[in-house]
Amino acid sequence: MIAENVLNIKQRISSACKKVGRNADEITLVAVTKTFSAETIRQAVEVGINDIGESYVQEMVKKHEKLKGEDIKWHFIGHLQTNKVKYIADWVHLIHAVDSIKLGNEISKWATKYKRRMDVLIEIKTSGQFTHFGVPVEDANMLVKELSKLPNVNVCGLMTIGPFLPDPEYSRGSFRTLRLLRDSIENEGYKLPVLSMGMTNDFEVAIEEGATMVRIGTAIFGSRKIRNQQDENNSI
Ligand SMILES: *Cc1c(COP(=O)(O)O)cnc(C)c1O
Repeated sequence: MIAENVLNIKQRISSACKKVGRNADEITLVAVTKTFSAETIRQAVEVGINDIGESYVQEMVKKHEKLKGEDIKWHFIGHLQTNKVKYIADWVHLIHAVDSIKLGNEISKWATKYKRRMDVLIEIKTSGQFTHFGVPVEDANMLVKELSKLPNVNVCGLMTIGPFLPDPEYSRGSFRTLRLLRDSIENEGYKLPVLSMGMTNDFEVAIEEGATMVRIGTAIFGSRKIRNQQDENNSI
């Protein structure tokens, strides 16, 4: 089932690219495996998925333990608490949702400790929905500049979550805002090649608007059980 779903998603990514004259090679598919088992991740790896996205630190740490030796790039796509950076800093591939200097400082500290460079994206709040984390559009410019000064932190792009609305067209404004924001910051001499935007419901619109990374869970693995955030807060 996973193989079939991945094939289907890849075809849809290609069609969306074609529609706007882009090349499918520009898009990284991050398979979002939160709430699914390490065994499920192994199955995804078997069909050629190597970018895996997780939203909860303890869960990602456990799966990372079980999957040592597999060719996996671990993406942390959730809200990262400052005191949990240390658990993933040695091996995480990309942190998608940095939204404060405080978090940036902690990432810098641990990256330096592990003698590595840490790639990060800044999460921008592009829709009015107040449940989302992320910085307001007007603060993005300053945060990119501040984070770019930190040792061993590489700000390589921006990330956003579209509004959770049934019609994907409602996400277009958010995604366009992210791209235009990126363009305006790049005009000041920064390099932000990565745009992480688009999920199961709206990834095609995201690609049309310039996404280079889409984060897809449900369309590959099926629907998730609701997870309790409180468990995560108390667990590590
Ligand atoms: C869960 C999650 C996804 C995947 O969502 P689907 O709708 O299942 O594709 C993508 N991005 C983030 C930040 C998530 O938390």
